[in-house]
Amino acid sequence: MTALDPAIYDTGKRPVWCPGCGNYGVLLALRKALAELELKPENVVIVTGIGCHGRISDYMKTNGFHTIHGRVLPLATGIKLANPNLTVIGHSGDGDAYAIGLGHLPHAARRNIDIKLIVHNNMVFGLTTGQVTPTTPLGVKTKSTPFGNPEHPLNPLLLALASGATFVARGFSGEVDHLKELIKRAILHKGFAFIDVLQPCVTFFNTYSILREKVYKLEETGHDVKSLEQAFRRAMETERIPIGVFYEVERPTLEEAFSHAMNPPPALRPLSPPDLTRLLSR
Ligand code: SF4
Repeated sequence: MTALDPAIYDTGKRPVWCPGCGNYGVLLALRKALAELELKPENVVIVTGIGCHGRISDYMKTNGFHTIHGRVLPLATGIKLANPNLTVIGHSGDGDAYAIGLGHLPHAARRNIDIKLIVHNNMVFGLTTGQVTPTTPLGVKTKSTPFGNPEHPLNPLLLALASGATFVARGFSGEVDHLKELIKRAILHKGFAFIDVLQPCVTFFNTYSILREKVYKLEETGHDVKSLEQAFRRAMETERIPIGVFYEVERPTLEEAFSHAMNPPPALRPLSPPDLTRLLSR
């Protein structure tokens, strides 16, 4: 396979993210992954929600849809059903995906539609200057929790696994080549693929050094990606932070389940005007 030049996906716009923001690592990994898979820009759609991550559709020279808060998955689902030939990649932040849009994740996972969701999880609302999100760790002081976060955080990997996702992975924006490989594998996976990307918000919650210290790669441990039990165990680890593919299995996609509706047998197709005229004139 001859890789394309990642620069073909560059719109030329200079990112407005803070210097050192984890979003740069995700952008770079995404461009490299598309280039190595030789995906033409016109065959790719990037759907983004509201938050700092949402700018990524401005910096990707592909089709793009910057939608309203929390609605990345419904938009991505509609696009894929309308044109199954497109590679549809949703990007959300942890606020967008796990607060405002949380209701959509379990359903996309259980339906197994062939779309991808990459969540830029910096554990804080960065765009609105640093408020708590569902993944902010317990006790962390943010603008909205000046005495420390009193709420137990959500574990998105456990949610995705319990919802029936067929591909569940975690990346780290500081490991760009590793993340690129995860994105490539997610795109090649037939069905819903979910990647939670841990990334620092250097301005409001800089987790860079702790993530750098704690992350380790699952593929170096003999982890069995087909074992749901092992995936759950790894997803519950807290002392160290596994990154890589936790779980990957095959199951029919929503498009396959819908194929009877997309290509109905003649008896079920809507009547054409001449057919209707013929029937009525009997
Ligand atoms: Fe990145 Fe945080 Fe700056 Fe937003 S506020 S661009 S998430 S560092």
